[in-house]
Amino acid sequence: MGTLVMKFGGTSVGSVDAINQTADIILDSAKEWRRLVVVSAMNGVTDALIDSAQTAVSSDDELAFRAIIAGLHAKHHDTIGALLPEGKDREQLFSTVQGLMDELGALCHSIHILGEITPRAMDTITSMGERMSARTLAAVLRHKGTKSQSIDATQLIVTDDKYQNAAPLMEKTLARIQERLVSALDAGVIPIVTGFIGATEEGVTTTLGRGGTDYSAAILGSCLDADEVWNWKEVDGVLTTDPRIVPDAQVIPELSYSEMGELSYFGAKVLHPKTVLPLIQHNIPLRVKNTFNPTYPGTRIVREAADEARGKIKAVTAIKGMSMVIVEGRGMIGVPGIAARTFSTVAGQGANVLMIIQASSEQSICFLIPTQTVSAVVKALEEEMERELARRDIDRISSRDNVVIVTAVGAGLRDTPGISAKVFGALGQADINVVAIAQGSSECGLSLVVAAADAVDAVRQIHSQVIVNGG
Ligand code: ADP
Ligand code: ASP
Ligand code: MG
Repeated sequence: MGTLVMKFGGTSVGSVDAINQTADIILDSAKEWRRLVVVSAMNGVTDALIDSAQTAVSSDDELAFRAIIAGLHAKHHDTIGALLPEGKDREQLFSTVQGLMDELGALCHSIHILGEITPRAMDTITSMGERMSARTLAAVLRHKGTKSQSIDATQLIVTDDKYQNAAPLMEKTLARIQERLVSALDAGVIPIVTGFIGATEEGVTTTLGRGGTDYSAAILGSCLDADEVWNWKEVDGVLTTDPRIVPDAQVIPELSYSEMGELSYFGAKVLHPKTVLPLIQHNIPLRVKNTFNPTYPGTRIVREAADEARGKIKAVTAIKGMSMVIVEGRGMIGVPGIAARTFSTVAGQGANVLMIIQASSEQSICFLIPTQTVSAVVKALEEEMERELARRDIDRISSRDNVVIVTAVGAGLRDTPGISAKVFGALGQADINVVAIAQGSSECGLSLVVAAADAVDAVRQIHSQVIVNGG
């Protein structure tokens, strides 16, 4: 029997009906698969947990964060009450939720007094949503007559201590999973693992970044050498673009790992950007399916997508909140090491560089980073290049905010003539100015920078002119 990891996102466990539906999907797959389930917090819960902590920092009295905690408590209590009949399981869940909400109250109280929140405390707080949803789903499955047990991923996924964006230590994680999961699976118990969270070797709770449950499922799938990972959401699959921008975006039947990686890295909110990484090594197919339309095949993500789609643009995505930094000056020509110093300074500020453009004459280096890091980066660069600026080897270090990276994705773009012409033609028709371009570093992405005010139109133009009309 093959092993299947199933991940259910926040909407799939977001209400009484959704949790029942999720439980039925799990039960329906009993004949074919040995199953491991990974769950997100109920929809909106992680946001509310963050809000409780931030309110504890900012508000004058305790009532404000206490009200948020009361809301979270009631939401879980009511959901559990509606899902389970009176009895031991229900009482135990009520008291677990009560215990977690008391702990949250105590943490928020300390934060309120201290007036600040550390990333480490934030991870302890945001882990609570998944702790509640995993226990709830396991109890519902038991109630429906199946052996199921919730497990906190703090016992399974070992990470570094980069709180709020921790990275898994794969070898240690593998050992834990073999020790703690395999026997349960073999005994026919369905483990319900908390998504999003892990712990350091010392046992301190960490999180893998927002939307991290997708990544948790891939890490677990890779360590179990699963046959497939299925990601259940509230959309029919990965769509040709964000449905909030283009409501009639269509489902893409098949994508390669690289295409999916490119799409999620450049802003498609459908999957955590690191999701495909653990799957590549073991060549584990990933499916994106709709909890509320379960018979629909969804999107399959595999090593190599079907050949006939090569050289076509399959999807377009945009990443907002970017700034462009330009280091320029004629004196830079031939001065060795300017690029290396520039990027090590940027790295020193912890800024993530999403796109780099350098003119061939070496007169300028231009790159894109998230706007929240730009002022620190420009300041650090001015300090690092103080001498070059004084000598006028570098004329200026400037930045431009309010830009967006738009990325068109499809395998084989690099060696298919005419694709860029179609993309730029579509933008030209709508009078959209392209500020910068990068293609070629990745085999399947063409990225361009436009003003934030043009971003929605740029995505719509590329979607309608290049994807729908056959790129
Ligand atoms: P989950 O909570 O199940 O992880 P998410 O809300 O994180 O689900 O991701 C699914 C959402 O991503 C969809 O509801 C959709 O609005 C959004 N989205 C953005 N871009 C895309 C895309 N290209 N394909 C599918 N969904 C997308
Ligand atoms: N609950 C977490 C979040 O909202 C993780 C996830 O949903 O994947 O970011
Ligand atoms: Mg998500």
